[in-house]
Amino acid sequence: MCARSKRLVGASACKLREAVDSSVTTSSVHPTDEKFADSPSTSPPPLPMDAAIAFTSARNPSPTRFSSSASPSSRHPQRLCVFGPWRGRERRLRALRPKSQVQPPGATAADASHHDVVVVGAGIVGLAIARHLLLHTPFSVAVADAAVPCSGATGAGQGYIWMSHRKPGSDMWELAMRSKQLWEELAAEVDGQGGGGARERLGWMRTGSLLVGRTSEELATLQERTNALSQAGIHAEFLSASTLHSLEPALSVGKDGGALFLPQDCQIDAFQAVSLIEKTNNSYSSEGRYMELYNDPAMSLIRSEVTGAVEAVQTSSNILYGRKAIVIASGAWTRSLLHSFLEPALTLDIPVKPRKGHLLVVEKFDKVKLNHALMEVGYVDHQVAKSSSTHMASESSEDEHGALSISMTATLDTKGNLVLGSSREFKGFSREVDKSVVKCIWERAGEFFPAMKNVPLDIDQNTQIRIGHRPYMPDGKPVIGFIPDLPNVLIATGHEGNGLTLALGTAEMVSDMILGNPGKVDYSPFAIKHRFSG
Ligand SMILES: Cc1cc2nc3c(=O)[nH]c(=O)nc-3n(C[C@H](O)[C@H](O)[C@H](O)COP(=O)(O)OP(=O)(O)OC[C@H]3O[C@@H](n4cnc5c(N)ncnc54)[C@H](O)[C@@H]3O)c2cc1C
Repeated sequence: MCARSKRLVGASACKLREAVDSSVTTSSVHPTDEKFADSPSTSPPPLPMDAAIAFTSARNPSPTRFSSSASPSSRHPQRLCVFGPWRGRERRLRALRPKSQVQPPGATAADASHHDVVVVGAGIVGLAIARHLLLHTPFSVAVADAAVPCSGATGAGQGYIWMSHRKPGSDMWELAMRSKQLWEELAAEVDGQGGGGARERLGWMRTGSLLVGRTSEELATLQERTNALSQAGIHAEFLSASTLHSLEPALSVGKDGGALFLPQDCQIDAFQAVSLIEKTNNSYSSEGRYMELYNDPAMSLIRSEVTGAVEAVQTSSNILYGRKAIVIASGAWTRSLLHSFLEPALTLDIPVKPRKGHLLVVEKFDKVKLNHALMEVGYVDHQVAKSSSTHMASESSEDEHGALSISMTATLDTKGNLVLGSSREFKGFSREVDKSVVKCIWERAGEFFPAMKNVPLDIDQNTQIRIGHRPYMPDGKPVIGFIPDLPNVLIATGHEGNGLTLALGTAEMVSDMILGNPGKVDYSPFAIKHRFSG
């Protein structure tokens, strides 16, 4: 095994949790984070591999380092595979950036491996793309991450797979519908395999969703949404305060309150979903079709001097050739990564930026019983971009200047833990747990659940606080498509607070793009061309 690379095969959910529970140390990956993150901090930029989830629970006093359980010999099955005719051109390659800047000392051709598709980023989006390609194409895939799965936004995701806060006919609608359908299919497949089924292996629950309002104005909005969703063929019900009370006795919305109810909405557990996807992906390792490299940040792209096409990704320890495509799915880090890939001749600036979120998990909380997943209607505004969609560079809104925004979201996970969200703020890549934000989340929930009001929150006892950086796009839409000047390089990022929901649809779209298929969902709203400046 190459001493500098850590190739992890078959990481279990437990290992994923260990990984984020510990401080994984590696070399600096995102030297330019600060530049793009609008961070007020003057300290060195934190890396994504810092503990992405700051568990305040004292449960794990001596966290172990993330390590593979795979035997050393099983970690390189891919070395034997996928050598294509392009291999002989290695010597003629050059980096898009000067090699002296990008090639780490000691990285040699011996560290090269050849694949059909290389995916940068092992969040839910990158791993789902790998999964789709492995299941539905004959391609071989390599995934490289600067840290480990779930160390980015994915590990903080609450797990809503919802339609109730979406607008029929919007750019995201079809993608969300398709993606939810794919999650349903996956859950049904896992159920069919027995062994605890989707609930145990995916955290899957069809809890239904309640979008709740407390004022007559909010109720008018909810009524409108109910009508629009019903017209779009979604089973949607408008609930008065009394009907809502009979469904959720612990919830208090006042006599003017009510809710939009979608009985078919579902939820997953992000860690379990990632673990399941990883397991599927790793089942292709033995036939040489899958390789994952963690703690191995991508550093530059390598271009053929013969064809001009990008042929490989240079990581800190490896050169990964991607014969068909290279997919950049590095979440909130994508802007800085692209800059480091493309500078000095920068032709593309995708203004994705980190939108920090805190999520509070209270273990086995028995003071409030939830029968459904809930969200206050204000979440819809809290989620969408406030700046004008036509001015991508606009930073005019108060929110964009860093103001904290908190909306109540509440779910119970399959273990009975109360999961409360969530905050949104622009704080660069800071991973600091802000106790005042956690307190605000708790107090906001108390406005809806009176039983919580009298319970003081001790965040050092039986709680976890998860921190993640949603990949925020000023125009509120993900970026999914080929880079016009680099025809075999694709971007898949910018899902903000929807990445778990949209991951499977995004993966299918990326796969269709690589295959040149027309696609089940219209690509055009997410394309790069004509949307961004250089
Ligand atoms: C509090 C909170 C609650 C949320 N709740 C929900 C929800 O209920 N439903 C929902 O649909 N979505 C939710 N989201 C949003 C969702 O979590 C994100 O949209 C999604 O996880 C984004 O996935 P990703 O794979 O694009 O990014 P990430 O998970 O951030 O993954 C990006 C990966 O790229 C890696 N990387 C960075 N730089 C490099 C490099 N140079 N080389 C290699 N790898 C690199 C990182 O290490 C990281 O692992 C929530 C988010 C937060 C913060």
